Amino acid sequence: MIYSKDCFVPFVEFILYREDVLTKPPIDGDLWKIRALLIQYIQSNPNHPSIQLTNISEFLTYLIQFNLISGNSLKFSKLLNSNVGLEITPPKLIWINVSGILLLKARLQGGSFPQSMIVSGIHRPQKEPKTLFELLETPKLKMDPIYSHEIVLKTSFTFNPDMLFELIKRPTARTILSKERARLKTKKVFFYNVCNDSNHNHILGTVGLNKKEYSQYGTNKQMIPQATVHQRISQSKNMISNEIYKCSQCKIHFLPIINNHTDLNLGDCSYLDTCHKMKTCRYLHYYTLNSNSSHYSSDQKENEENNQVHEYSIGDCFSESFREVLPAQWINCDIRYLPFKILGKFAAIISDPAWDIHMSLPYGTCKDEELLSLPMHELQDEGIIMLWVTGRSIEIGRRALLKWGYKISDEMIWVKLNQLKRTIVTGRTGHWLNHSKEHLLVGLKGNPIWINRKIDMDVVVSGTRETSRKPDRFYDIVERLVGIHSRKLEIFGRDHNTRPGWLTIGNQLQGVSLYEPEVKRRYEAYTQSNNLHLNYN
Ligand code: SAH
Repeated sequence: MIYSKDCFVPFVEFILYREDVLTKPPIDGDLWKIRALLIQYIQSNPNHPSIQLTNISEFLTYLIQFNLISGNSLKFSKLLNSNVGLEITPPKLIWINVSGILLLKARLQGGSFPQSMIVSGIHRPQKEPKTLFELLETPKLKMDPIYSHEIVLKTSFTFNPDMLFELIKRPTARTILSKERARLKTKKVFFYNVCNDSNHNHILGTVGLNKKEYSQYGTNKQMIPQATVHQRISQSKNMISNEIYKCSQCKIHFLPIINNHTDLNLGDCSYLDTCHKMKTCRYLHYYTLNSNSSHYSSDQKENEENNQVHEYSIGDCFSESFREVLPAQWINCDIRYLPFKILGKFAAIISDPAWDIHMSLPYGTCKDEELLSLPMHELQDEGIIMLWVTGRSIEIGRRALLKWGYKISDEMIWVKLNQLKRTIVTGRTGHWLNHSKEHLLVGLKGNPIWINRKIDMDVVVSGTRETSRKPDRFYDIVERLVGIHSRKLEIFGRDHNTRPGWLTIGNQLQGVSLYEPEVKRRYEAYTQSNNLHLNYN
């Protein structure tokens, strides 16, 4: 038999009213129980039409027809036909597509989409649609009625472009799942407890460190493995109090390195672990002894080993790609003369220009005008740039970004730490105040909605290393913003800055190393036409 359109109205209401319980115990999708409940529901309201659902086979026919007009909004454990009800294991209702049923409800009411799905009605002048976009924009568009054999729902279907935009804006299931995966994958930070008892540090330094090693290794304190120092402390257990021993196992200690030339009256060396003259420097240096790793949980150990400790970000990058991450690439060049077109376009750029800051630096600098006139527009159509600036160059940096076609979206700072993991108070720069931070301007070009937002913050707290060397954490931040697979460029980089997924250019790099065939081809053509010597690694 063929049911009329009105026969489905109570069923739609019934499902929307009972949707949360129909597939769960005790009903559990059992079609007999659902039929009984539906009949009860129909009878409860005198306005409902009487529907012939005498036996299970009629009910199955009713469901088949319902699914035909609702776009298969009901999912069953088996394909429905009027005989399956007689089988030993009859089909069960297992899932309800509520949106589909809401749409059917709207159509049965002879109207448009449910109000909740429409954002706002923008009035546009009515004219004959020409392009597809105009067609979509047309506020009222009659769609063909839906056929189910003889059942014809003669209702009009109103299309609303705002609803379409609203749907497009919604994150896809893949994005939601990737975000969730990134959240679960993100390793939790192990909180490092620092011991503030100078007596502990002094005693542990006496038993754990060996003067000779320092005169031998000079600056490279990490040559003495943590495990060795812990082993020595453990061997001298009888010489130190139990309290100090226990403390060495679970807290960080800064062990004073007392050489023959150390003068304790002078206090801490302000270069700390970046001091280049440790062999002779008379100021005090420290060895950082972490808590004994055998006391970490396996998770914490893994964190350290993978170097994946996120102290200031809330998660991993969630954008996914099935491309391989490119190996590190670099070109030794004078940035002022390299044609940027060779390099292609990038999702992210980090630039740490050699600003002329009127200070003696271990490398050459560029004039403001030279930097401002770099053809940066050739490197990016849409994406993010991070530009390191110093006190004097902040304003030039802002001008440069605007000139290069960026809008300035953020300003980040790097708060510098000394080897005691405290803020540097006697920075080596600053005329009036000691400088303990560096600034990074963040510019955006185009409308890069694909950038992963709100993962990291605008402050990085991290130790200092060689002159001008910036913390690696900034690369991690960029990789989380644009993804590890996208093309990234560093301008004015050095050897230690080269990384997979990045192309680094600068005049202190060792030779050239390129993998991308296009870039390689363009670079070779450039060197040939300019009679330059190709210096591949
Ligand atoms: N961000 C880097 C430091 C950059 S220092 C780090 O983390 O280590 C600036 C670098 O730019 C220096 O290596 C300097 O030699 C280089 N440089 C200066 N002028 C240059 C030019 N005209 N072309 C290419 N590199 C230049």
